[in-house]
Amino acid sequence: MTKLYYEKDIDPALIAGRKVAIIGYGSQGHAHALNLHDSGVDIRVGLRKGSSSWSKAEEAGLRVTTIEDATQEANLIMVLLPDTEQPAVYEASIAPHLQDHDALFFAHGFNIRYDQISPPANVDVAMVAPKGPGHLVRRTYTEGGGVPSLVAVEQDASGKAKDIALSYAHALGATRAGVLETTFAEETETDLFGEQVVLCGGMTALVRAGFETLVEAGYQPESAYFECLHELKLIVDLMYEQGISGMRFSISDTAEYGDMTRGPRIIGDASRQEMLRILSDIRDGSFAEEWVAENRAGRPHFNQLREEAAKHPIEEVGANLRAMMPFVSAGRKKLQDVSGG
Ligand code: NAD
Ligand code: MG
Repeated sequence: MTKLYYEKDIDPALIAGRKVAIIGYGSQGHAHALNLHDSGVDIRVGLRKGSSSWSKAEEAGLRVTTIEDATQEANLIMVLLPDTEQPAVYEASIAPHLQDHDALFFAHGFNIRYDQISPPANVDVAMVAPKGPGHLVRRTYTEGGGVPSLVAVEQDASGKAKDIALSYAHALGATRAGVLETTFAEETETDLFGEQVVLCGGMTALVRAGFETLVEAGYQPESAYFECLHELKLIVDLMYEQGISGMRFSISDTAEYGDMTRGPRIIGDASRQEMLRILSDIRDGSFAEEWVAENRAGRPHFNQLREEAAKHPIEEVGANLRAMMPFVSAGRKKLQDVSGG
């Protein structure tokens, strides 16, 4: 049975008794540091010397020190660096300062699941992964709410790793929304599958293919943009609020009939077969191997793809149309304001 944990299930004393190091002060880092601090937890932020976040964290009233010193001082170390940077920083600045019965925490399972980081056997290895971006983790906390989160234990040296993770999640505000127990493997594999197949990869490919089909058939690019990209938000909001049936209740019967009869032709057998191949690449580690190698090589393919994608006509049409609708991009500005660096 799936179990969700709420405030009543938690022992807040566990995290109150720890010295916590938050490594990194970016999207997740600033939110974890500030929420735990406001929950009364003894935290210090660990950053590189010369990091532009150093003064930001100090101005927010937090104590900042180097990653090495933060790890040394603390007995619970939460690693909130970009996943691609974590292995090198772990080797150089964290691993040499880990002590018996420390707890090493992550907010995503990639580096543990794919053996990019191999912690010693005498520390707890656990995950507290909010299911939302850092600025929401911070904002909902200050508003008295929380972002639902996953907890997982990879290695339980203390015999208390799960309770400590739950207590951390509580201080983060997550038990106000619900905390779900999972494993590093499930979190990592479903996260990669979701972003590749549905949320990012599947979605952008669908939008661009629809746009290209209309433009190549002679329709105005502006019409194609409104139809295939702009209106997506309305539909997604309805699905988010009420599920697929609820969304269909709000659209016309013509749209609903077209949806139910044509949708399965777009995502048919060929697409489902490809989904299985993508899932298989995730599970057998070949996607991870490819991405690690790409990073080691300095990201030549990634940079080329990014550059090509930015030149797609949908970007130019969209930029012009959005310039006339400043309210559309208002939320994006706010997001940039709070994200770290
Ligand atoms: P981020 O890119 O926003 O922040 C990373 C921080 O690390 C920044 O302060 C940056 O300056 C610092 N940094 C970068 N390279 C460094 C290096 N080589 N040495 C030292 N410091 C360095 O990262 P994030 O999005 O907050 O992600 C942190 C972790 O949280 C990741 O494991 C990620 O998967 C996970 N996560 C992120 C989100 C999200 O919404 N962003 C959601 C859930 C989980
Ligand atoms: Mg220590």
